[in-house]
Amino acid sequence: MQKLSLRDLDVRGKRVLVRVDFNVPAEMRGRKIRVTDDTRIRETLATINYLREHGAKVILMSHFGRPKGKPVEKYSLRPIGEYLHSLIHHPVIFSHDTIGDVPRKIIDHMESGDVALLENVRFQPEEEANDPEFAKALAELGDLYVNDAFGAAHRAHASTVGITKFVEKSAMGFLMEKELKHLKEGLEKPAKPFIVILGGAKVSDKIGVLKALMEKADTILIGGAMANTFLKAQGIPVGASRVEPDKVDLARELLDLAKQRDVKFLLPIDVVEADGIRAGADMRNTSRLSPQHGISDGWQAVDIGRETILLYKAEIAAAKTIVWNGPVGVFEIPDFANGTREIAAALAESDATTIIGGGDSVTAVKLFGYGDKMTFISTGGGASLELLEGKELPGVASLTEK
Ligand code: ADP
Ligand code: MG
Repeated sequence: MQKLSLRDLDVRGKRVLVRVDFNVPAEMRGRKIRVTDDTRIRETLATINYLREHGAKVILMSHFGRPKGKPVEKYSLRPIGEYLHSLIHHPVIFSHDTIGDVPRKIIDHMESGDVALLENVRFQPEEEANDPEFAKALAELGDLYVNDAFGAAHRAHASTVGITKFVEKSAMGFLMEKELKHLKEGLEKPAKPFIVILGGAKVSDKIGVLKALMEKADTILIGGAMANTFLKAQGIPVGASRVEPDKVDLARELLDLAKQRDVKFLLPIDVVEADGIRAGADMRNTSRLSPQHGISDGWQAVDIGRETILLYKAEIAAAKTIVWNGPVGVFEIPDFANGTREIAAALAESDATTIIGGGDSVTAVKLFGYGDKMTFISTGGGASLELLEGKELPGVASLTEK
């Protein structure tokens, strides 16, 4: 179903409510919040600037952190508004109330091209409860609604879903469109060979993605802690590695499914094992893994091994489309980051369309300096996973149809 785009709206002179995802990584510097990664803010500038240039009054709404339904000073959006001001070179009027008289008066005084930011929508418990009264109160502040918060689109909350019932028209913002273009439309008929690299913490987090992509992928490369559960399913000793014992049967089913579908499903053929997950731990590359030669007793897999890196790199070099979700090792510890860095480097060098989704994988790619070498890096962790699973996102489904 085609949804309205921001371009389809006549916004001149209108009060346009824009749900953005300003839930950016930030740290406290003394008593001040400092934004440590402003990607999500920068990625909304296309929408904000378009609206300003087309004479709209721009009213921004977002969540920030986990204030759990009450005002928490450190989760105030005020400093984020100041940060946005520095990016757009135009004042961002801050409303310390999310709904009611305070924002209403501010908005009454706005001129076309002005920008206001409402306080954190999650200061109100009604936001996550998708309470209709709250949604209505938000909607009353504007004429039109634009959802550009891809990172929150998998949640049915008042500011992402409820609000659409109370506005005349609701449309996708430019970031939302871009995410859908790469993670959905772009993968409907991917150029082949299509390779999926899956890693990260748990098989259970990625079952949906695995099953959905098994329908389309030519090759699946597995790394990270989730690989251990698959190794165990093949009778390979995993030592003290992190495994999900209750998912071993599922891992076996997934291996069978891959065989039925004729998908090349590759597991690590060697790993880096360490005597603990900590900097400075003793570590070594295992020999080739087999039921006879597994991970040593008391040791755990922390990264893919050097033979596996070569094997995976050869697959990557032949691919035309690559989706990557989940680091292949404990990349937060530099000694265990080699596999993840090598995979990132291989993707950066590849001519294939390269799509990165998932919170920690994106962090890893940026950490190693390959952020601008990828075709597309999603701004949504959970939302990108749900899209890759083929699910419909409530924050998109609720928008006005073309
Ligand atoms: P994403 O956010 O990209 O979807 P996940 O949240 O599923 O990724 O997993 C990321 C986490 O997995 C990282 O914190 C990383 O340290 C951890 N991880 C990767 N490999 C291992 C491993 N072998 N053992 C333990 N943890 C691992
Ligand atoms: Mg994660």
